[in-house]
Amino acid sequence: MKLKGKTAIVTGAGQGIGEATAKKFASEGAIVIAVDLRKEGLEKVVEEIRKNGGQAIGDTVDVTNREEVQSLINFTAAQFGRVDIVVNNAGITQDAQLLKMTEEQFEAVIDVNLKAVFTVAQAAAAVMKEQKSGVILNASSIVGTYGNFGQTNYAASKWGVNGMTKTWAKELGKYGIRVNAVAPGFIRTPMTEKMPEKVLEMMKEKSVLDDLGDPEDIANGYAFLASDEAKFITGTILSIDGGAVI
Ligand code: NAP
Repeated sequence: MKLKGKTAIVTGAGQGIGEATAKKFASEGAIVIAVDLRKEGLEKVVEEIRKNGGQAIGDTVDVTNREEVQSLINFTAAQFGRVDIVVNNAGITQDAQLLKMTEEQFEAVIDVNLKAVFTVAQAAAAVMKEQKSGVILNASSIVGTYGNFGQTNYAASKWGVNGMTKTWAKELGKYGIRVNAVAPGFIRTPMTEKMPEKVLEMMKEKSVLDDLGDPEDIANGYAFLASDEAKFITGTILSIDGGAVI
């Protein structure tokens, strides 16, 4: 088991990539604190993990709310004595072309995908610094390096995540904290279900493997980066995109 006894917070764990990551981490022996906006998805995920012999608790937290985030970190540290791993997975899209995008759409995506990653990482890093170890993993995207039609806000947020990941790796290495990001290509989740079939078909064709990815493909990447197998890896953006861009 790669993550035996580690305490791992996974945000956006009620569905999609976060759900797969929470399940993967639990199957690798981690104690998972699964976090999401809504209770319903979380309850199902926690129940499934427990049924399979894993350890998990669910916590409804809005990652854009600094007080709720601080309570999550305080609770985790008090309950388990440590915060070993944080996966900043929660994310949203609100697509529109530049000339049509509203300020609200721009700010909503920046708030969840970028600012909340900062808020969660800052609160977690304070505990990790004291314990002299920790892993912070951030959700980037292929769009954070190459841009994408209709995704000004999303591209800006993921580009920012890449920059923060590299900056924190430089700042926190001396405390034994590793910081990395995963940049998925297009993955079958409720987020991409919203996209027109035509666009998904185009994305599939872009992959040299001629397919979309599964949430488990990304969860496996997070599990590797969270584990001691990756003890010399920090400041990297791991592409998991079926060779969509080579
Ligand atoms: P998803 O299916 O939409 O799941 C995201 C989860 O995050 C949802 O349960 C959502 O809750 C939750 N969430 C949203 N805002 C939140 C908040 N303020 N506080 C707490 N939780 C919140 O998305 P996904 O496809 O699994 O994507 C996960 C991450 O991977 C995102 O950061 C995304 O940008 C990134 N990514 C995905 C793809 C892809 O192809 N799917 C590609 C590249 C990168 P609600 O449902 O209640 O809003």
